[in-house]
Amino acid sequence: MLKVGIYGATGNVGLEAIESLINHPFLEISHLYASERSAGKKYKDACFLDTSLLPKYILEMNVEPTNMKKPPRNIDVAFFALPEEIAKEFELRYVEELSKHMTVITTSSALRMYEKIPLIVTEVNADHLRLAEDYRKELDSIGCPFPQCNCTAVPIVFALKPLLEDESIGVKEVHVDTYQSISGSGARAVRKWQKERLKEKGVPKPFMSERPVIYPELTYEGNVRPIYEKNSKEEEKKVKEETLKILGTYDNGKIIPVDFTIDCMCNRVPTLRGHFEHIRIKPKKSCTKQDIISIYEEFNEKCRKLYGDLPSSPEKTLTLLHREPQTRYDVGLGGGMSIVMGAIEIENGWIRLRTLSDNLKKGAAKGSVQLMEYLHKKQFL
Ligand code: NAP
Repeated sequence: MLKVGIYGATGNVGLEAIESLINHPFLEISHLYASERSAGKKYKDACFLDTSLLPKYILEMNVEPTNMKKPPRNIDVAFFALPEEIAKEFELRYVEELSKHMTVITTSSALRMYEKIPLIVTEVNADHLRLAEDYRKELDSIGCPFPQCNCTAVPIVFALKPLLEDESIGVKEVHVDTYQSISGSGARAVRKWQKERLKEKGVPKPFMSERPVIYPELTYEGNVRPIYEKNSKEEEKKVKEETLKILGTYDNGKIIPVDFTIDCMCNRVPTLRGHFEHIRIKPKKSCTKQDIISIYEEFNEKCRKLYGDLPSSPEKTLTLLHREPQTRYDVGLGGGMSIVMGAIEIENGWIRLRTLSDNLKKGAAKGSVQLMEYLHKKQFL
């Protein structure tokens, strides 16, 4: 069995990673790490999320402090799910050193755009593993850091990859609007939302001010709000540049980003899990709805052949629905690992799609476990 240490184990993504690794055929959880707040406690006392799916032995495990100055040597994979602000400092400082001894998979954005580091979504660009092989050789490392992409970029790259591979269609321009769930903002955001809900008596009433509120308070309940991080459109920037990198081509030690225009507007909505996205694609050549459905079905077949043997792969990589996907009903399809696409339309030469994907499973924890499985299959782990 390969040993996995989980950092940020008490958070949203950490908990999902634990669930994804329980009863795994060749990966086992060996250590759970979190902040000083949780260190020294049993997992059941440190994690304030719903742990009802966890077996007793996990609930009784001790949470250890995160200390990169003395990283453990007895694990094969370090899985990081640390808050962005911590990861930025922490990962930039320590991950290269850690990778000398083990493979590192991280869900934060700190390392995603580094030229020498791959950004792999297993079914989309596993060929970028060549960059990891270069990294290992160059730094004489046992492992390599594998950042996971922004969860919002996941359905976009799945919608585009099959069209880019089909030369009779191609991609010229892409526009995306997102409706992202609150779990995407971390365990504290979910807790804040729960408190807001308890305070509301019945249906939340809008704030009926006649003048614009200059700096509205952070409110989730009864609200749709654009995603600003520290007043910048960081999330939108990440989605755009990561999409172009993931869909790019490996060339002589680097990734050449794919060449098309992409615009994205990100919003948070009061749902618990699942990012719903409207994706509009201008293809290079005109096509019919049936062309698109056939291309996606072929892609599914290819994924089944290449990745269907990985324990975390869903039966269908893309679930094509005749109706529009709905967050509440469809987020669990394929065990949270399928990208749900519905009501595909062609209008004025644009392909219009509504997609839904599980930000915590496919977009973070279980998608990372699937990558660990692929790395194991390729004898990288
Ligand atoms: P979260 O729920 O806020 O969990 C954060 C975890 O990090 C907790 O275990 C917390 O431990 C630990 N932590 C906080 N401060 C720390 C410190 N100073 N030192 C060590 N550990 C510390 O966050 P999340 O939603 O799981 O997200 C984790 C990362 O994944 C973020 O970078 C996020 O951007 C990325 N991501 C999230 C999603 C998603 O849908 N949520 C999807 C893709 C990527 P305590 O409980 O002890 O405080």
